[in-house]
Amino acid sequence: MSKKEQVEKHEFQTEVRELLQLMIHSLYSNPEIFVRELISNAADALDKVRFESISNPDLLKDNSELRIDVQVDEDKKQVVIEDTGIGMNHQDLMENLGTIARSGTKHFLKNLSGDAKKDVNLIGQFGVGFYSVFMVAAKVEVITRKAGESEAWAWTSEGTGEFSISSTEKDGRGTRIVVHLKDDDDSKEFASSWRVRSIIQKYSEFVTHPIYLETIEKPEEKSAEEDKKDDDVVDVPAGPERLNEKPALWRRNPNEVEAEQYQEFYSNVSGDYSGSPAATYSHSHIEGINEYWSLIYVPSKAPFGIFHSDRSHGLKLYVKRVFIMDDCKDLLPPWLRFVRGVIDSEDLPLNVSREILQNNRIINNIKNHVTKKTLESLQSLADDKPEEYAEFWKELGSILKEGFHMNWEWLDELKSLLRFNSTVVGTDKLTSLKDYVSRMRDEQKDIYYITGENLTTLEASPHLEAFKAKGFEVLYMADPIDEFMMGGLQDFEGKSFKDISRGDIALEKTAEEEASEKESQNEYSELCAALQKALDEDIETVRVTTRLKDSACVLTNKEDAMSAHMERLMTQMGQNNMPKSKRILEINPNHAINKKLLEKVKAKEDLGDWPTVLMGQALLAEGSPLPNPGLYVQAVTKLLS
Ligand code: ADP
Repeated sequence: MSKKEQVEKHEFQTEVRELLQLMIHSLYSNPEIFVRELISNAADALDKVRFESISNPDLLKDNSELRIDVQVDEDKKQVVIEDTGIGMNHQDLMENLGTIARSGTKHFLKNLSGDAKKDVNLIGQFGVGFYSVFMVAAKVEVITRKAGESEAWAWTSEGTGEFSISSTEKDGRGTRIVVHLKDDDDSKEFASSWRVRSIIQKYSEFVTHPIYLETIEKPEEKSAEEDKKDDDVVDVPAGPERLNEKPALWRRNPNEVEAEQYQEFYSNVSGDYSGSPAATYSHSHIEGINEYWSLIYVPSKAPFGIFHSDRSHGLKLYVKRVFIMDDCKDLLPPWLRFVRGVIDSEDLPLNVSREILQNNRIINNIKNHVTKKTLESLQSLADDKPEEYAEFWKELGSILKEGFHMNWEWLDELKSLLRFNSTVVGTDKLTSLKDYVSRMRDEQKDIYYITGENLTTLEASPHLEAFKAKGFEVLYMADPIDEFMMGGLQDFEGKSFKDISRGDIALEKTAEEEASEKESQNEYSELCAALQKALDEDIETVRVTTRLKDSACVLTNKEDAMSAHMERLMTQMGQNNMPKSKRILEINPNHAINKKLLEKVKAKEDLGDWPTVLMGQALLAEGSPLPNPGLYVQAVTKLLS
């Protein structure tokens, strides 16, 4: 058999097979997106060849136009999508379409929500869009020739377990995808040129390459007589029709772009077609020493993978309208990595590389602009539409908080974007720092906060009792990043932040309170000493406090010690060998238990299980795990019975 006739058969990789099953059987809810995905792949392939031709002009030497051609054959029930892009060779086909599990395949399968409509609209984000074609296709042929190579390849599959590859002929570089539609009604409807045209118009208006549509109509059923008449008339093919003619959206005058168009483009750049709009956006054309266009969006939903360590950055870089790269990290600080959009520079060289971008003056200017515009848009959203801002905050606030780490430039802007739950606004509503300060009592000097695992534990924390009694608001910080953020958040409007679980917080005590505390301290000195002796391993000091109203005791930290919450976070991150800092146990002199224990000590009775129980309660109340839960349960059971 000659090489030309050889057909290689290959199995799809397991996860790809699983994905195909899904496409064919369950995700079948919005099949039209296959057009969008194939066109977007064609546009990417055109971007790639244009970019590579900058360093290798031979790739475009046949002078063929960079374009996408769509053909609908109503009779044969076929949709053909063809591009003059980078094309694929044998190895590319194997790697991209079938045998290798791309990381997105796994992620997509893992992140399925069960809502088919939503899931299928996210496939573009996961890099598995091509396979959506099997929602409508009985068979798909990919005929492709890589730019700069002479051999062409045909990839064919029916979307079941396997695909085949064979050598073939093709004029010029690029890829032609022939979709043979299934025979069911839902699939057949795509064999209609008005249907395909309206999909392309809906999704692909923003593709920067020309898209043409050609229709091969079904020959009409004619009577024999009509047929005879027509014999003398020569059919003139209508020829392809250009579908997208406007310049790229970001190069248009902002006054001429409608809000709806901005939101459609947002779906396009973010790959999120699930219907969640951008929370806010900003479009500008900067002229001066540098000229560039910027169109940036803040998502309302956290983009996939944003919290992972290999975080994606969302800006695309163009130079003089030529696509240069996705995911351009140098255009955004890491704490704004959720921003999506396009930067198009007139001044950067076309052959710019990732290395050149680092520490490039033009790029730094643009980064500064993008940061400023993003923070301004967020501030306007917070001022004008606080409810929408709160939604954004819930989704992405924790990434913004990373901005307090190793950053000194945008602190004021960031501080005014912070939002917290608190003892006054509760756990459903949020407060800004400005509003907190406006509610501060005259005698209150500091901004109080408490950190912990979750809002429920924080709300019930004994530490809050005295603050509530005095009418001092306390901010709740239950986000793991909050502890780290507080390292960079020193003050707000000249007021410092005070963790209420630390040290002997002064709490603006009156002279009388000071005196009565001193008196109780003397009165309770014997009980303090007895508890200290029993708990010496974990406790540095036992003392009397006025900060408690209803609870018997509470644990606090020395001013310079790591907070209990921070210690738990470090342990969770695998830092097990940290020296454990001893805590301070504070007891409430007005509580019945302590009064009773004092009597016992005075009567020289043994405290028995009481120290274990008090310590256990204090640990549980702050959300810390018990070092020996069994011992605690035994002690409580004994006392109860
Ligand atoms: P994504 O495009 O999001 O990466 P797809 O599943 O749609 O994921 O496509 C997989 C890969 O196949 C693409 O990344 C690309 O390398 C290749 N590919 C798909 N369509 C084309 C095309 N028309 N021309 C060249 N390569 C293509």
